[in-house]
Amino acid sequence: MTSAQGKPEWRETSEYRVIRPERDTHLGGENPFESMMARFDVAAQKLNLEPGLYSVLRHPEKQIIVACPVLRDSGQVEVFTGYRILYNTARGPAKGGIRFDMGVTLDEVKALAAWMTWKCAVVNLPFGGAKGGILCDPSTMSMVELERLTRRYTSAIMDTLGPDSDVPAPDVNTNERMMAWIMDTYSMQKRHTVTAVVTGKPIEMGGSLGRREATGRGVMIVSREALKRLNMPISKQTRVVVQGFGNVGSISAELMSNLGLNIVAVSDKDGGIYNPRGLDVNDVIEHVKKEKTLKTYLNADKVTNKELLTLECEVLVPAALENVITEENAGQIKAKIIAEGANGPTSATADRILQDKGILVIPDILANAGGVTVSYFEWVQDRGGYFWDEDTVNQRLERIMVESFNEVAGMAARNGVSMRIAAYMVAIDRVAKVHRLRGMYA
Ligand code: NAD
Repeated sequence: MTSAQGKPEWRETSEYRVIRPERDTHLGGENPFESMMARFDVAAQKLNLEPGLYSVLRHPEKQIIVACPVLRDSGQVEVFTGYRILYNTARGPAKGGIRFDMGVTLDEVKALAAWMTWKCAVVNLPFGGAKGGILCDPSTMSMVELERLTRRYTSAIMDTLGPDSDVPAPDVNTNERMMAWIMDTYSMQKRHTVTAVVTGKPIEMGGSLGRREATGRGVMIVSREALKRLNMPISKQTRVVVQGFGNVGSISAELMSNLGLNIVAVSDKDGGIYNPRGLDVNDVIEHVKKEKTLKTYLNADKVTNKELLTLECEVLVPAALENVITEENAGQIKAKIIAEGANGPTSATADRILQDKGILVIPDILANAGGVTVSYFEWVQDRGGYFWDEDTVNQRLERIMVESFNEVAGMAARNGVSMRIAAYMVAIDRVAKVHRLRGMYA
C-alpha cells in the first residue's frame, strides 16, 4: 500500500507476525544437528581423530542470525528471521544453499552446513560448507515481496558473502531468479559485477551449462559404478525404482534409462506409477511437463509412495524427501543398491537394517554431490571469465564422481564399514588434514 504521495507506508503496528516453525525439521530426530553428528562421531572414531580436532570439527565457525524487515504489498512491515552458518572454511570458501521455508531453524541450518562441509570434501572440491535459511512461507508472498526479502537478507549477510569467502546457491523454495537478485544486490554494493558470489544462476549471467542436470547425472554415474562393482548387468535386466520426479528424480530416471537400465516405477507427491516390464521414461517426462503430475498417467499401474519403496528392483533411488527409509520399511526393501538422490532419505536405524541385509547404500553426501560439483565448475568459470561447453562440464563431472565413488568404496573395503561411514571418513580426513597443515592460530 502506498500513501497519497506515492511513498510506502511504514505503519507502526503491533501486528508484526511472529513466525515459528510449523513442522519438524528436514532431518528428523529431536535435534537434527546431533542426529547428523552421530554419524560423524562413528567416522571420527574410526579415524582416531585427535580430541582437539574432533572438537574443532564439531563446532560451526560462524553463525549469523539476522532480522530482515520487509515491506509487504499490504503496506505493513514484517520482520523475517534469516540465518547463515559457515560451518568450516579450512578447505576454501564456504559453499551451500539458501532455503525459504517454515521449517527453518538454527539447528537445521547448522546440520545442513556441516553436511555441505562433508559433501564438498568427499568429492574433493576446494570449498568449505555453509547453509542459509529464512523462516518464511514463500507461497504466501508475491514476487516483489520475495525480491525485497532476498535483497534485504543479502544485504544483512553482506560482510561474509563473496567469491573468496561464502558462495550461496539455491535450495528448498529458492531458484535461479533469487540467485540473480543476490548477485545483483552484492554487485551493486561492490560497485562492479561479481558473478562468482553465487551459483545456480541463469546461464545468461554466468550460470553453467549442465548444472540443471548435474545432480541426476551424478546419481546415474554412481549407480552405474555400484552395479559394476557388484558385477550386475547394465541392461534391461536391471530394474530401477525412483521416488520423486522433480529435478533429481526425473533426470536420474532419464539418464539411467539412456544407459540401458529398466525404469519400472517412478513417483511424485501424488503417488507412483509402475510397469514391471518398464516405463517409457521420455513419455512420462512429456506427460509431467504438460500435466504437472503423474496421477493422470494412464499407461501404467498405480502404486502408493509407500508401496513403491518396497517394489522388486535392483536399484532404488529415493529422490524426494528425507527420512523415507526407516526401521518400519527397511526390512522389506528388495533393492540391492540404494542411491540417495535426496538429502537424508535414510534414518540411522534403517542404516543398520540395510547393512545387515547386505544392501549397498550410496550415501547422499556422495550420490547427490554432482550438483555442488557443477556449482564449483560455475564458480571456476565465472572467476576465469571463460565458459565451457556442456561436454566438457559432463566429462569433468564424470571424472570427479567416478574417482570419489572409488575412493569411498576403497575406504569402506579397507575399514569394513558401510559406504556412508566411509564417505564421512574420506571427508573428515580431508578436512582434518588441512587443519593439521594450517596449524592452530591462537
Ligand atoms: P524438486 O522439487 O524438483 O522435486 C521433488 C520431487 O519430489 C517432486 O516430484 C515432488 O512431487 C516429489 N515429492 C514431494 N513430496 C513427495 C512425497 N511425499 N512422496 C514422494 N514424492 C514427493 O526437488 P529436487 O531438486 O529434485 O530435490 C529432491 C531431493 O534432492 C531433495 O532432498 C534435495 O535436497 C535433494 N538434492 C537436490 C539437488 C539439486 O541439485 N536439485 C542437489 C542435492 C540434493
